[in-house]
Amino acid sequence: MTATQSMYRRYRFFKENAGYVVGESAKCAYSLARAEELAESAGLTVDWDWDGDSDLSWCECGGDNETCTRCGSRKYSGRECTSLDGHDYHDHEVLYAYVKAGGATLAGLGGIVDAIGTPYQRVVEAELLAEAIVELNRNEYTLPIA
Ligand SMILES: [Zn+2]
Ligand SMILES: [Zn+2]
Repeated sequence: MTATQSMYRRYRFFKENAGYVVGESAKCAYSLARAEELAESAGLTVDWDWDGDSDLSWCECGGDNETCTRCGSRKYSGRECTSLDGHDYHDHEVLYAYVKAGGATLAGLGGIVDAIGTPYQRVVEAELLAEAIVELNRNEYTLPIA
């Protein structure tokens, strides 16, 4: 695969999967594709950890309540309780994603819900990589990535 082909594939993915400002989807998809490519050649990667400090009270399941608002049983009991639209009322995987280089955290985002293995995972990663590249380029102690 040539560099142009790989860039085009990345672009297509983000065009289809990234949320965007109306009218700017091409620009947004391009910048995410570019960030992903630059990060790959610079060896920047995204790590994922449990987010122990998350707030899920905004969620339709109500977040950390001991008792389920849908079926009334205790949450985290291992019992299945998934609504028709696929919302698991008993358990969410809430993670923190970050980019580190040379001991410094360049970009990070917490409270990411059930993203692993979905297109959203890659979108989050590309957004964080874009942020990290901006941060690297702002600081003089490292070589710019361009
Ligand atoms: Zn929920
Ligand atoms: Zn339930």
